[in-house]
Amino acid sequence: MGINQLLRFAFVVVITCQFGTHGKVRYDGYKVFRITPRTQDELKWIQGVADRWETLDFWRHPTKVGRPVDVMVSPAQQLDFVRSASRPGLEITTWISNVQDMIDREAAEMINSKNDVNAVNFDYNQYHTYEEIFAWMNEFSSSNSGVSMVKVTTTYEGETVYGIRIAKSPFAKNVAYIQGGIHAREWISPATVINLIDRFVSKYGSDATVTSMLDNFVWIMVPVYNIDGYKFSHTDDRMWRKNRNPNTGGCVGVDLNRNYDYKWEGDGSKCAQTYPGTEKLSEPENSGSKDFLQSFGTDLKLFIDFHSYGQYWLYPWGYTEKVIAVHPHRDDQKALATKVENSISSVHGKDYLVGESGPDMYPASGASEDFGYGSLGVKYSYVVELRDEGTFGFELPARQIQPTAEEIYAGMKTLGEQLVAEYA
Ligand SMILES: [Zn+2]
Repeated sequence: MGINQLLRFAFVVVITCQFGTHGKVRYDGYKVFRITPRTQDELKWIQGVADRWETLDFWRHPTKVGRPVDVMVSPAQQLDFVRSASRPGLEITTWISNVQDMIDREAAEMINSKNDVNAVNFDYNQYHTYEEIFAWMNEFSSSNSGVSMVKVTTTYEGETVYGIRIAKSPFAKNVAYIQGGIHAREWISPATVINLIDRFVSKYGSDATVTSMLDNFVWIMVPVYNIDGYKFSHTDDRMWRKNRNPNTGGCVGVDLNRNYDYKWEGDGSKCAQTYPGTEKLSEPENSGSKDFLQSFGTDLKLFIDFHSYGQYWLYPWGYTEKVIAVHPHRDDQKALATKVENSISSVHGKDYLVGESGPDMYPASGASEDFGYGSLGVKYSYVVELRDEGTFGFELPARQIQPTAEEIYAGMKTLGEQLVAEYA
């Protein structure tokens, strides 16, 4: 057996063992380590580790001194990883000792809630499968005036990606666009978009701010952008992030949030969680949504992409860690994000870090906030990391859906006021 054959064999063994008897990927014994760099040196060190272990699943990348890094490691790799990441003074702690336990707890909670789920009596406090969300979208749009479903794009597997279009006034020309679920496993994102849609529509006519937001803008809100990945995260692999493009000759999936066309960069392993695809906009999800959004021209005034976790409200640029001097809208983007954050934190006391995506979080090219601003020309283009700050991570309990929606709703009203004042 040559080394290549041997590696392929080893790879197949790892993949096979990960599947349990029901075909679902299991995470028995998978740990999530937390490493918090306390000096620039330690930060550089962890960044080096992340570069070397490119195909490991970093739930939170190294960003700044003092900010935790979370990385999920299989039982087979734990010893090597800890050995390679260790250095004197650097503390590596186990945050989650068995990822499968968390997945099992969540699955049990979902099964217990199933009885009261249907399209008419939709439970806004639970996580839902795509089929349930789609049924809700149909029901919601046919039973509310001025609300319809609009085709935004298609997926690799041929699903149509729909947005809920809220158009209360025939005179509204400007468009505000919000999307959730680009990363499959970040379930709080679709749940938050669904709750925002429901609040906007139900508060129309009684809440003055929402009424003016809906009278002056057409809102297009996509609960689940990466449908293929989201479905897969329910049926096969709770920790799935990318889309489901099979990538001939490598691992499955392209990171849609590295595949947009502004400053796209084409390096990276197909097996990495952040694989950007063969070329910019190679994925139908993104090429189609670009055509859709571009069709609004300068009428498009807002682009928001919801993720989790970490609690950030971020503006461009994301592609570089340098603060680029030529960026005429940075002050406006930051000022509005700061106001929005004040409203968010006033509801439940949760702080979201406001910053420039690349310099204040970590650089990522081909990402959505740069697409919104650099490619579509939308000044208010944000990427938001929802709850939490690293207690539950992607496995945010369903009981936190409502408080998350409440604080984001407050933030969106502040944002909407500004949109109306500036553009209406
Ligand atoms: Zn994400």
